[in-house]
Amino acid sequence: MRIDNLRPGFALRFWALTAVMAMATLTVPLSVSAQDSGTETFQRDPKQAIDETYTEHIKKYTTAPALNSPLTDYLPASSSVPTPAKVLGDVAGAPDVLPYAEEVYQYFRLLAAASPRVKVFTIGHTEEGREMIAVAVGDESLLTHAKENGARLAQLADPRSLELDDAKAAALISRSYPVYYITGAIHSPETGAPTALMELAYRLAVDNAPYLQYIRTHLITLITPVVEVDGRDRMVDVYKWHKAHPGENWPHLAYWGHYVGHDNNRDAMAVTLELTQNVLNTMLDWHAPVLHDLHESVPFLYDNTVGDGPYNSWIDPLLTHEWSMLASDNMARMQGFGMPGAFTHGDFDTWSPGYLMFLAAFHNGISRLYETFGNGGADTEKRWLSPDEYSRTWYRPNPPYPTVVWSQRDNNNYEQTALLSALSYFAHNSKLFLNNFYLKSKRSVEKPANGGPAAYVLAQDDRFGNRQMQLLKVLALQHVEIHQLTKEAKVALPPPPRKDGEEPKPGTPPPPASQTFPAGSFVIRMDQPFSRIADALLDRQFWSPQDPQKEPFDDTGWCFGDLFNAKVSRVTDNGILSAPMSLLPDLGQIPAPEVGPGPFYVVNNSAQVSLASLVYASHGAANLSISEEDFESEGHKFAAGSLIIGGVDASKLEPLLRQFDLAAVSLASQPSAKVHPAAAPRIAFMHTWLSTQTEGWWRMAFDKLQVPFAYLSTQAVAKEPDLRARYDVLIFAPAGHVSGQQIVDGLPLWGNALPWQTTSLTPNLGKLDSTDDLRPGLGEAGVAHLKDFVQQGGLLITAEDTAEFAIEEGMAPGVFVAPRKDLKVVGSVLNSAVVDNKHPVAYGYDGAVALYSADGLAFTVSNLTVNSHILTAKEYKRPTGRGGPDDEDVPQGRPFEKAPPLPAPKPWQAVPLNEEQERNNPFLIPAEYRPQVILRYADMKDLLLSGLLENGDSVAEHPAVVVAHFGNGSVLLFANNPVYRGETIGSYALVFNSIINFGHLK
Ligand SMILES: [Zn+2]
Repeated sequence: MRIDNLRPGFALRFWALTAVMAMATLTVPLSVSAQDSGTETFQRDPKQAIDETYTEHIKKYTTAPALNSPLTDYLPASSSVPTPAKVLGDVAGAPDVLPYAEEVYQYFRLLAAASPRVKVFTIGHTEEGREMIAVAVGDESLLTHAKENGARLAQLADPRSLELDDAKAAALISRSYPVYYITGAIHSPETGAPTALMELAYRLAVDNAPYLQYIRTHLITLITPVVEVDGRDRMVDVYKWHKAHPGENWPHLAYWGHYVGHDNNRDAMAVTLELTQNVLNTMLDWHAPVLHDLHESVPFLYDNTVGDGPYNSWIDPLLTHEWSMLASDNMARMQGFGMPGAFTHGDFDTWSPGYLMFLAAFHNGISRLYETFGNGGADTEKRWLSPDEYSRTWYRPNPPYPTVVWSQRDNNNYEQTALLSALSYFAHNSKLFLNNFYLKSKRSVEKPANGGPAAYVLAQDDRFGNRQMQLLKVLALQHVEIHQLTKEAKVALPPPPRKDGEEPKPGTPPPPASQTFPAGSFVIRMDQPFSRIADALLDRQFWSPQDPQKEPFDDTGWCFGDLFNAKVSRVTDNGILSAPMSLLPDLGQIPAPEVGPGPFYVVNNSAQVSLASLVYASHGAANLSISEEDFESEGHKFAAGSLIIGGVDASKLEPLLRQFDLAAVSLASQPSAKVHPAAAPRIAFMHTWLSTQTEGWWRMAFDKLQVPFAYLSTQAVAKEPDLRARYDVLIFAPAGHVSGQQIVDGLPLWGNALPWQTTSLTPNLGKLDSTDDLRPGLGEAGVAHLKDFVQQGGLLITAEDTAEFAIEEGMAPGVFVAPRKDLKVVGSVLNSAVVDNKHPVAYGYDGAVALYSADGLAFTVSNLTVNSHILTAKEYKRPTGRGGPDDEDVPQGRPFEKAPPLPAPKPWQAVPLNEEQERNNPFLIPAEYRPQVILRYADMKDLLLSGLLENGDSVAEHPAVVVAHFGNGSVLLFANNPVYRGETIGSYALVFNSIINFGHLK
């Protein structure tokens, strides 16, 4: 279909949308909407020569004419600027060609050397030290004055600098141009973006087509061609191995980044990964109002930003319409070019803000994401689509083909065509989008006056200080301003929510009408440009079970105040904003608590994240013990689990306390509490070769907290008969929804071996761990070695699927998985209660603990090793007989004998057995080996903190964290995931308590 035929319709659509936008945002100055893209032709400049060979190869590698467009079916020639072929040896997207990140960078640097329209910047490095870059492409005049332009954009991004004056903003906008930031290859098996972006940059720099000239003179395109650089290089290794072993199966990408795989695109909340920090800082340095992330999975091009509901509740409503505007024009253009399978609605809700692109959504920009089609490498392959992919539906009137021969060049055609038309639309509407950027920033500042809240306050309180600091560090990484009260502040509290018709019980005292925060409390003001990200992280979420969206794309709850156990108050009284407070320029300026003369010090246990860090850092250089009871000394009160330190100089202790955000009380004499030595046991992580992502979040937490560990695969454990000689604690973090059988069996063994090793062909594989064959699992030998390890006194830590594995393998006598019934939980934050606050695992916790639950796993416990049903009072139904429903039956003709009462345990308790049930019962667990329930899920009415919960009876009140005993050792089982995506700081101490109290868990 020729594009000329459709042009009038596009013009109409564009003007209709512009009119809607102008009406929706009445403050848009007239000049802002005066740009016009309705007459865009996308025709090449007939006077510019084309690169004949390159163009010929584009045609050759495109598998069907409809899979290309007039924008990318040629390449303009240049006598001075090299094409991607200079580095690739062939065109972008050529079969069998997959460049390493370094080769991609090499090309961009050649481009920058040859063209004044291209500049390359280093934006940081990965966990493994690989470089990340950003490439700016635009007209020379734009790049030369990028700094002055950036200063203007900075004022639009912080409208306080303009006194929120629209006229001042309009004057700046008229002289400014936006930055459109495109990122590729965050997901390493999605391989097409780097070459597509190489060629895109060439076109932007060289092509004289009028539409391209317009783009480069009206905006700067900023490109990070490879976001996950560590993973990219491993993926290229795997691809090279595949090409060197034709006809064989090739290894899956066992590691992408250093810690996580696909979840690197779920880090935009906690900002734990280098790649997230580098992209965020680059976006904010350039004040880019768009972050457009490129992915591959859905055929042929899914602009998923419009997606489906529910939309995130904390974004500016204007953003949702910007998504629609951009996608509507973009996909209409794709249809105009006659490219099949381009659409914008579909599977994907924008509820969770964890995606990389959401960095823009919550910093007043526009988040965008393309899913294109890819083959996971540069092979050209026949692909069979599924009906849900190729069927026609209302939002996909021109669907992908049921089968298609697909090449990486096809992918590059789609990515570039869609991006070029998106850039054109954005350039033609740059003033409108800059004004929207300003408006969203302004409304972020005006938040307290419009919907609120006024602020979030983290009350100064030593019990929460350590975890509050971890939360403040996240907010600082998000570039959120943090203030500290210089005097105490009193705020009015709103009346508590009350259900319809519910009256307070007579005689109950009225709820407090005000709250006072002490001086030193931290205030996150909502009248700042980045109030939205803080509001979204600190507020609670509710996903209705009645929501029409039945398949949430990711987590439904994430409330950081709860998950960090950080005591965060949502304040709606705008009076807080006038309280005396000072801006903290950086968190390092908070004065460290004084360290007294000693010679004894106590770090009170308040479930800090980093008590274990201090134990490992000072083990051997100080006398470390842990109190087994609450105690008082020299006028100070300490909780059970507190760390008592002797034999160390204040000068040695002070920097450690500072480093780990801890405070110690100095004592003149040794406290007389009952103690045991603090342990710094030898830790090993055990990972499967099936998936290393979920355990990767655990590794990251241990590395950041400097708790050392060895790293073993299930295969290594299968070969190590005496684990106990080498390790005290084995951590089997969640493997990621795998079954016990998969853990034991691994992958099927037919076919060829799948190596993961450092070789000259695959220099980036191996390293973290290596194997000559990814397929074998733990095996029966490995299971036996694990059992020996625990029985000989080791501690095995498990969570989610690995807890189920430990139960199935008989290593957790008396612990069972609770039947799920019709429960529905999708990444929710659930409340729990401490059952045994004297148990070391619970040291520092009191009352409620927020837990992250992926799917509502819960346990039951029993005094038997078999899950026998024992009748309880709750289940008893009276038989037919005399009397009413609640009366007792009385047999006739003999004196009445009252039956002994049936047991009435709580759902988190084992059913007590009577003498009859215990007599000669081989399944009876001796009292000292029975499982100890540490935490249980809260009662139904208090269970849900954030997210989705439906039919929660099967999890309410059930055990969540249990210590089982097996031989001389123990197995710690988490139904929740206590170490997850850097978001569950509040439950970390459950894990670390078990480690530093190793040997004292019974
Ligand atoms: Zn992806």
